[in-house]
Amino acid sequence: MAGKDYYAILGVSKDASQDEIKKAYRSLAKKYHPDLNKEPGAEQKFKDVQEAYDILSDENKRRTYDQFGSAAFDNTAGAGGGFHGFADSFQDIDLDDIFGQIFGGRQRSRSSQGPRRGNDRFVRINISFMDSIQGKTVEFPIDYDKTCETCHGTGAKSAADIQTCPTCNGTGVVHKVVDAIFGRMEQRVTCPDCHGTGKITKNPCPDCRGKGYQHVKTKISVKIPAGISNGQQIRVKGYGEHGEKGGENGDLFIEVGVDPHNTFVRDGNDIHITIPISIVDAILGAVIEVPTVYGNADLKIPAGIQPNTILRMRGKGVKKGALAGDQYVNVNIKIPTKLTEDQKNLIRQFGDIETKKPAHESWFDRVKSKFGK
Ligand SMILES: [Zn+2]
Ligand SMILES: [Zn+2]
Repeated sequence: MAGKDYYAILGVSKDASQDEIKKAYRSLAKKYHPDLNKEPGAEQKFKDVQEAYDILSDENKRRTYDQFGSAAFDNTAGAGGGFHGFADSFQDIDLDDIFGQIFGGRQRSRSSQGPRRGNDRFVRINISFMDSIQGKTVEFPIDYDKTCETCHGTGAKSAADIQTCPTCNGTGVVHKVVDAIFGRMEQRVTCPDCHGTGKITKNPCPDCRGKGYQHVKTKISVKIPAGISNGQQIRVKGYGEHGEKGGENGDLFIEVGVDPHNTFVRDGNDIHITIPISIVDAILGAVIEVPTVYGNADLKIPAGIQPNTILRMRGKGVKKGALAGDQYVNVNIKIPTKLTEDQKNLIRQFGDIETKKPAHESWFDRVKSKFGK
């Protein structure tokens, strides 16, 4: 499921206009429609085209797709047995006007006579690097369609008010005889009284006026767990789009963006950091205090450390439950640029002693021979 290229499926470019998308969809839907095309694989292609159109024709879904890929919609598809938005797509574009002339109307094969789960929603928030390490509870304003508590989403005043549609006897479809150019024919069309659901509501719920939900503005409190990584999603159940016919709401997915830090760079649960040390500490060795994401900690610098050496501080990375990453310290040895005359003399003395050493011990000689001078 992951990684479907909806643009490629519709054969349009990434910056295609809604008109181009609709046009491509119309022509491909016609090409692969199961009633028209009996070739193996056509039905799957038809479904793919539907799915691609469902996402790309909705600017919100398209943005989510551009950002996260088709994986962002897997939850939607998985939770309700797959393929949400199928019926919606048909409504958007009313395929009846494409096929109606040839086939005398297409029966709307809505699988949504019963409850239908709502679609998921996606939002993105940003938190600071340190909040991502320590975890945080964020208050979140949100408006959504809350399932009506009075009627539990059915839209009816009482259970007895939900009745089988007498017009279609609960099938959702009625037969209609029409005069076509090639003779009289019978059409099967969506029942006008129940709109294909097979059920009618005698007395609507007074609290939601039959809709099954109420639009509410509220605040939710979301706990961001300590150690969350940039781009991870938190699922908040029930705050997605409203369901139909008593179906439950979709979920809200909050993508958590983590701002970069000036000092720490995170890689998985490991932390990378660059620390300047003096040339004296580099030569003689030292124990220095370095920052970690949980406060300062001691780091032993071994004597004679070389530039660009990376030291590992085991377990000083990001803690996630029982796991902890490591901190990697890139040692940046600072060569002093402003020396007093006394300091310069000491360095000169050091140099004199170095050059008087036997050749195999002299650092200068080793460098000289390496470069062939
Ligand atoms: Zn209600
Ligand atoms: Zn009906």
